[in-house]
Amino acid sequence: MKNEGDNSILNNLRCPDCLGAFIQNEKTPQCDSCGAQYHISEGIPDLRKDRSSYYCEFPKGDIEQFLADSKVDLEGTVRAYLRNKQLPPKLGEYIMGSGRAGWTFLLPISAKSRVLDLGCGWGTLAYGLANRADEVVALDSTLERMRLLHNRSVLDGLRNLKTVCAGDGTHLPFANDSFDIVIVNGVLEWVPSGLAGNPGELQRAFLREVRRVLKPSGTLLLGIENRYAWKTWFRNPDGHTGLRFVPWLPRFLATMYSKVTGKGEYRNWLYSEKQYERLLSNEGFDSSSFVVPLPGYHHPVWMVPLTQPKKIAKRVRRSVRSPIMKTLQYVKGRLTAMFPDAFTIIASSELKKPNFLDRLLRHLNELDISGWEDIPQECAEYRINGEMGIVTILLQKNGSGNVIKLPLHSRAIIELEHEVTFFQESPKQLSNLLPRVISKGNFDAQEYFVYSFLPGSSGEGFRIEDGRLSKVLNSAVQLLVTFDNEKDLTNASSQLANIEQKVLSLASSESQRNCVNNAVKRCQGFIETISDDGWILGHGDFKLANCILAKDSLSIQGVIDWGGWSKRELPGYDLAFLLTDIKWRFGSSLEESIRLWRDDLPAESWAIQAIDHFNLATNRNIGDKEWRAIMAWQWLKRLAPLADLVECKRFDYNYLNRMFDVYAD
Ligand SMILES: [Zn+2]
Repeated sequence: MKNEGDNSILNNLRCPDCLGAFIQNEKTPQCDSCGAQYHISEGIPDLRKDRSSYYCEFPKGDIEQFLADSKVDLEGTVRAYLRNKQLPPKLGEYIMGSGRAGWTFLLPISAKSRVLDLGCGWGTLAYGLANRADEVVALDSTLERMRLLHNRSVLDGLRNLKTVCAGDGTHLPFANDSFDIVIVNGVLEWVPSGLAGNPGELQRAFLREVRRVLKPSGTLLLGIENRYAWKTWFRNPDGHTGLRFVPWLPRFLATMYSKVTGKGEYRNWLYSEKQYERLLSNEGFDSSSFVVPLPGYHHPVWMVPLTQPKKIAKRVRRSVRSPIMKTLQYVKGRLTAMFPDAFTIIASSELKKPNFLDRLLRHLNELDISGWEDIPQECAEYRINGEMGIVTILLQKNGSGNVIKLPLHSRAIIELEHEVTFFQESPKQLSNLLPRVISKGNFDAQEYFVYSFLPGSSGEGFRIEDGRLSKVLNSAVQLLVTFDNEKDLTNASSQLANIEQKVLSLASSESQRNCVNNAVKRCQGFIETISDDGWILGHGDFKLANCILAKDSLSIQGVIDWGGWSKRELPGYDLAFLLTDIKWRFGSSLEESIRLWRDDLPAESWAIQAIDHFNLATNRNIGDKEWRAIMAWQWLKRLAPLADLVECKRFDYNYLNRMFDVYAD
């Protein structure tokens, strides 16, 4: 029987030695041409010669138990493992974070695309892309990591995510022209490891194989470090060899240096922009565009074209006070623009297709929506919020424009639906302070939300001297007072019960469960004491980064981020954000900030009461019931999404412990 039948996991696979098709067999698929025999392991075709090959962040002794546990509760298992082994939370994000494939809209991806994630590791990118493609094939040479991905796709019912274990054959195990998109993220530099021969030639052969399996109009996404990253010279050693400035050296010197230090031959070759361009063009990728992922390509937040050095510099500079620090930040910005750490290279033949963002913008232009402005894509700023699972495209020119938000998963869609409802139903007097909803819809199986752009300057960009601080604070207070109209706590108790259930499911010990119970009791007590008075129930992020300030008066012109809003919610979070923001940024004490706030507030305002709670907190009077209840509520809420999936902090065991420990009696 030949490989017929749609459900066959061998369908579309070829012998990695001779590209022959497979004779169907439950356990041992055999090549119809050369007769080579392979395996199927827990539903994953294993096409390796060396089936002992194991490259993994976790030691082999731990992996079987880890995989067994993950079949029941994947996130909980990852979290528990990281905590027990004292591993960095970032590793959890690396294994599961949805923001890591956030560059997806820069690809010509569509609901019809066939995508290959080559050297997929734990399959985070493949998993993230499966939502918006017809089929995603994830390939890696470590079976154990593929098994985790396989479990994950089975658990979540992702039938279009296929896993293949391969890597040491002559060929990629696919027929010619199989894919629309191939992802090679953090892989090309490792290709020569463990193989004999010239590293450059091995990398070229690898790219030739990628070209072969790509359709003529297909696209390669190549994520890789820059050979001339300034950091490997000045600050960090090269991530592959652990040696400082080794990528910068001519290859023969790099090898000499590497051998002298006992690391053996230098084989993890990296290239410069021009060299990548030539390397790719020699293998049939005539068209390549370079994007700089910031802060890095493993966990990108900003995607800035290499051709926009000023924007790159802007995204890496921090706002600082002293002239020396300012100079250093300036230099850092310039260096990053000239010698970035890494590139995300999008390469194709001359037959290249428009990327998703191009197509979406064209679609929105054609819709002829009132309030939509036709601004060229060169003006776009591309931001990935991994925590929320939202990609934000800012299209702005001369102070006007639009903001497009693209959710990466279902929870993000729900958040954005909340946000839209809030904007549409907000009180009239606030309408000029909030972005307007211009459009929302679905384009090529992707939800989108379009808002008006609020002109002004983000509070983030301001360095406000202490004397002008009160202006900002007073303006923020006015805004909060305006919100003090909506009074409704009817659903707070039941919402609390929901949150309690979710958080309890996360608690891993009896003492943590007790902490959650205590926190919930406090919240309940608090809700009972205040429900007659009427308290604000809206929530917007009044932290400075989300406030739009007027340049001269420093009054708040608008608030841009309402992602965390829900209608029945206690106040406190906004204040906490704003005050801690101010403390962190301006070094003024919380007491001083609070004093500034108080002076202009009516005494009966809820805001003044909330400030009292903060005041008590700053005096370390944590025993105060209301204060603790407010913070308990907010922290519980922060933990609640953990049970639902996706939260940047979900792997940070220190963070979780800290939160629970606050309530440990
Ligand atoms: Zn064969």
